[in-house]
Amino acid sequence: MRQILNYIDGRLIPAAKGRVLDNVEPATGLAFSTLPNSDADDVNAAVASAQRAFPAWSNTPPAERSRILLRIADLIDANLDALALAESTDTGKPLSLAREVDIPRSASNFRFFATAILHTESAMHETRDLEPDGTTPRRAINYTLRSPRGVAGLISPWNLPLYLLSWKIAPALSTGNTAVAKPSEITPLTAFMLSELCIKAGLPAGVLNIIHGTGPGAGQPLVTHPHVPAISFTGGTSTGATLSAAAAPMFKRLSLELGGKNPTIIFDDADIEQALATTLNSSFRNQGQICLCASRVLVHRPIYAKFLERLTAATKALRIGDPFEPATQQGSLNSAAHLTKVAAAVDTARSLGAQVLCGGRKVPKDHLPPRCKEGFFYEPTILAGLDPACTTEQEEIFGPVVSVTPFDDEAHAIRLANGTRYGLATTLWTTNLSRAHRVAQQLEAGIVWINCWMLRDLRTPFGGVKHSGVGREGGQEALRFFTEPKNVCIRV
Ligand code: NAD
Repeated sequence: MRQILNYIDGRLIPAAKGRVLDNVEPATGLAFSTLPNSDADDVNAAVASAQRAFPAWSNTPPAERSRILLRIADLIDANLDALALAESTDTGKPLSLAREVDIPRSASNFRFFATAILHTESAMHETRDLEPDGTTPRRAINYTLRSPRGVAGLISPWNLPLYLLSWKIAPALSTGNTAVAKPSEITPLTAFMLSELCIKAGLPAGVLNIIHGTGPGAGQPLVTHPHVPAISFTGGTSTGATLSAAAAPMFKRLSLELGGKNPTIIFDDADIEQALATTLNSSFRNQGQICLCASRVLVHRPIYAKFLERLTAATKALRIGDPFEPATQQGSLNSAAHLTKVAAAVDTARSLGAQVLCGGRKVPKDHLPPRCKEGFFYEPTILAGLDPACTTEQEEIFGPVVSVTPFDDEAHAIRLANGTRYGLATTLWTTNLSRAHRVAQQLEAGIVWINCWMLRDLRTPFGGVKHSGVGREGGQEALRFFTEPKNVCIRV
């Protein structure tokens, strides 16, 4: 079995106590590698290494930092096939998706922030007012210095492993911080491969450290470490609450990207063909395991029945199969535990009176290819007839499960869309420009897509409102998060 190792002080090493966890391929249900089951000792060693590397790295000219990070991006591109295969093996997602989205986006993350730091500006505020005597003119010039915060703790989930980890590593390192990253214990492989690429790219020892292990075992000691002043976390809302409780008394900077219960709103004036094709994709891409996936499809009543019929037919036609097969559109869920959770959520929906229009069960073994018979596959599922206030409509499922609900008018659609504790992303389908702006303005969400989905520009603020998160990633927001501003005031 392949042995995944920690990356500490530029070296690839096992956990100090030598403990390991099995890493399972979800499409087969079989362990295919091991990873370090790290604890506080490993985290302490990684933080110490990052602290040692900080003075030199933060003083390295941005152009040089940029060159090294661009080399990492180039190495990701050069290893596209191997990284995509690893990501697909580790997550169960179709290989085609890993090749087309996850890995290219990881390279883009490095490129984007490596070049962004070459184009930053500093704010200057000229003060012109009066002395306390009320008559003598007073002048000053203020400028803002932004310095890296120190050692950043970066914690990421399993659904888009390298994509989301690199989305944190790239802005943290480019702005001169050093970092200790903790990828999900369920999908550690591409993070390990990234550490090999960082060594090849000549990243100085200790600038990036990657610790593998569980949330409580390795994540918690990172969050509470006294020499880690900033934590960037992506994961579930309840984990975010645990992290906040631990970090708040230490006055750490926290960026939290959490769960969602994203609505898609389809008005009767929408381009139905586009809305249908995109809703199919936004509901089931990566088996619905993207924080931005739609999970509640709200359809204008005049087109509800027809839309539902066509969405159900298209969903039934999705090809489930071996993630390595080019024709596969739906791979496996990410773990046995997650499969159980998704199946339980659908059972709850049934008990609450949901009509199951398609799916609603684990994929029977005789529908799967021989290699995948023990894999964690669930059929893409559409639920209808649920009360918007019920658990299934209120809580994140994070699987290939959407509900469909009719609405009567704009006010009703907005009420339904805003009617959960989450507020990550909303998609809106209409050809009425005024309506698009009017509704977008009233939606409680960090992102509103109009007539599109997951169209990402890395410069835009990314994140959620309410229980979907605190703070924003992306563009200037990320550069600000990883730097501390200082006002310098000079009296003229
Ligand atoms: P999770 O919260 O279980 O785990 C996320 C990470 O946190 C993992 O690395 C885990 O080991 C670590 N962790 C767990 N407990 C910890 C603790 N006590 N201290 C420190 N670290 C701890 O989430 P998951 O199941 O891996 O991912 C799915 C969730 O992530 C979903 O809720 C999804 O919506 C969310 N997500 C959000 C975004 C976003 O941008 N908002 C993106 C992707 C996924």
